[in-house]
Amino acid sequence: MENIFDYRLDQLEDYFLSINEKKFKATQIYDWLYKKQVFDFTQMTNLKKDLIIKLQETFTINSLEIIKKQTDKDTKKYLFKLADENFVESVLMYHDYGVSICVSSQVGCNMGCAFCESGRLKKVRNLKTHEMVEQILLVTQDIKERISSVVIMGIGEPFDNYDNVMNFIKIINNDKGLAIGARHITVSTCGIIPKIKMLMAEPLQINLAISLHAPNNALRSKLMKINKIYDIDNLIATLKEYIKKTNRRVTIEYVTLNGVNDSRECALELAHLLKGMNAYVNLIPYNETNNLGFKKSSKQTILEFYDTLKKQKINVTIRREFGSKIDAACGQLRSKEVDA
Ligand code: SAH
Repeated sequence: MENIFDYRLDQLEDYFLSINEKKFKATQIYDWLYKKQVFDFTQMTNLKKDLIIKLQETFTINSLEIIKKQTDKDTKKYLFKLADENFVESVLMYHDYGVSICVSSQVGCNMGCAFCESGRLKKVRNLKTHEMVEQILLVTQDIKERISSVVIMGIGEPFDNYDNVMNFIKIINNDKGLAIGARHITVSTCGIIPKIKMLMAEPLQINLAISLHAPNNALRSKLMKINKIYDIDNLIATLKEYIKKTNRRVTIEYVTLNGVNDSRECALELAHLLKGMNAYVNLIPYNETNNLGFKKSSKQTILEFYDTLKKQKINVTIRREFGSKIDAACGQLRSKEVDA
């Protein structure tokens, strides 16, 4: 059986045509699933009985289960169990401008970033499209409120699961579905260059965020294994190409790690690297975990780093700290649950 949340609208239309039904049935199904959020074919009252039976024989609907929830003032963290007993997480955040969710794209991760909890579990498998869609739907049901933006920054490297992630984005972006605007969808990558190039060719206006975390190859290669394959110079050249082609601003993520990448020299080097680029730096306070040796930078150090970038005319923001009390760093909840 296939999961219905794997289907883009055009794919569902093709399905209905293939069984000699009218194309618009796909829109009706989308309306039930995404607008009314009814997850039971028998309750879809405008469908004929024989079609309901056919759909029940062909598709499953839900497959994920929320098994744990931790709540903080402005954050909720969810642990999901997948049908094959693997676990992933999502984090929900309340902002002044709306509600955002951070979704996972893989079970585990092979990128092996030294400071990141998720990578302690090597990739078990890619998430299927429907498993990403369901993270949003189940959380929406739980909070009874519309989620207005989505970041693909949970467990996993989205560009190591490119096709499923793109289908997921197309499904949640569709007007007939959840209608989450492309400008409210952000995909974050550790810098897999060929996939950044593929994204350039997609007709999607989504945001691209790059986990840079270091201003030079020596340091970045120590923190992020991927830099040994796609180094900073090639990455920056690719981003310049991306910006030129798409006319969109790129976000540079920079987790500040105490005594590792938070010096004034690092800030100056970063400013030099990004000079003239349509990019902005998002400084991310490190969420400490018990299992890896890194410490977060002090508030003072982060502010100085920020000032140095500002003085060099680099656009920069400091990410508000979310959920440090509830293990909101990627992979922390899963890690506790399965003790690995
Ligand atoms: N693999 C993708 C997306 C998932 S990680 C990527 O690398 O971008 C999302 C972001 O969280 C990345 O920038 C990652 O480096 C950062 N991150 C990982 N562990 C963190 C922690 N403990 N505290 C703060 N940010 C962390």
